[in-house]
Amino acid sequence: MTLSLDILPLSAWMPVGALPFIIAGPCSAESEKQVLDTAKQLAKIPQVRVFRAGLWKPRTRPSTFEGVGSKGLQWLKKVKAETGLMTTVEVANPEHVKQAIDSGIDILWLGARTVVNPFSVQEIAQSLKGTNIPVMVKNPLNPDLRVWIGALERINQAGIKKLIAVHRGFSFFTMGPFRNTPMWEIPIELKRLSPNLPIIVDPSHICGKTHLIPAVAQKALDLEMNGLMIESHIKPSEALTDPDQQLTPEELNSMIASLVIREEYGNVEFENKLEELRSEIDKLDEEMISILSRRMYIVEEMGRFKKENNITILQLKRWSQIIRGRVEAGINLGLSREFLLKLLEALHEESIQRQAEVMNRKDQPPTSIS
Ligand code: PEP
Ligand code: MN
Repeated sequence: MTLSLDILPLSAWMPVGALPFIIAGPCSAESEKQVLDTAKQLAKIPQVRVFRAGLWKPRTRPSTFEGVGSKGLQWLKKVKAETGLMTTVEVANPEHVKQAIDSGIDILWLGARTVVNPFSVQEIAQSLKGTNIPVMVKNPLNPDLRVWIGALERINQAGIKKLIAVHRGFSFFTMGPFRNTPMWEIPIELKRLSPNLPIIVDPSHICGKTHLIPAVAQKALDLEMNGLMIESHIKPSEALTDPDQQLTPEELNSMIASLVIREEYGNVEFENKLEELRSEIDKLDEEMISILSRRMYIVEEMGRFKKENNITILQLKRWSQIIRGRVEAGINLGLSREFLLKLLEALHEESIQRQAEVMNRKDQPPTSIS
């Protein structure tokens, strides 16, 4: 997969300030007082640079609070005038875009429920043409990097160069500890494909519970993500949406203070040691790949042998023994059960595939070990 976005680095349009870069504010704007009280507290935290509040809320069920709508735009104007914070709101259609821009909102964001729908994203992109407003694109609800990339491309192709991707986790049927599973490999792959694209992490929607937020925020920084979007409410227990995942401004302040900002590069001694460790890893990976290749060679041998003797490929008893034995051995060597199961599953799938190929082959020239 390739990705080429014509974007500006965050530093080209976001004035530098205390790190990490934080966007904070309530899940929803509820009243002028709640918005302004929260914003005034947040403005005292040097890292908070942008104030967020949802005005048009995408709710799972009807007849729940669906946001205050356009009237909240005036409250955000006041936030900007009274605190100097930049403001951002979620937009889900061209009308929201127009109203937000007309009211002087600084940054727009597309929510996870909008990003899943290319028609909506395209309509919004169309309405952004000719504007120069920064746009944040949250990941879609489902863990499909291509859908996320597609939305970023549509917005970028509308001429928006001030672009940020927001990682807010992915929705799954089975619940783990998180409300939305982080699947860090997805934002990491996005960063690999487009190193200039700023990615900020939304620990509030990943976690769903405040006590999980600090670890996820730290992990985001350790993975060199460019900032955090965190929900903060003056009185979280009374919040009309997402009450369990919002921090008070004070809690947010101490959470930020506890975060460790690590350096990307260290001193010479550190770099040398790191190089040494990296070359050890390279060597081990080489060995591992050669071992896997040898394993597959033997697997094919077995396939041929089974074919000659008219035996089925899948032998469940043997497979259960492998799982049990290997997992136990791996755990004794300090590997996790989850990792071992994933690894063995992948090996098994590839082995079955190889054997099936051998079985279906008409003539079978022996494969050589390279
Ligand atoms: C939000 O930021 O309040 C929101 C609705 O988030 P998401 O689109 O990530 O669910
Ligand atoms: Mn929310």
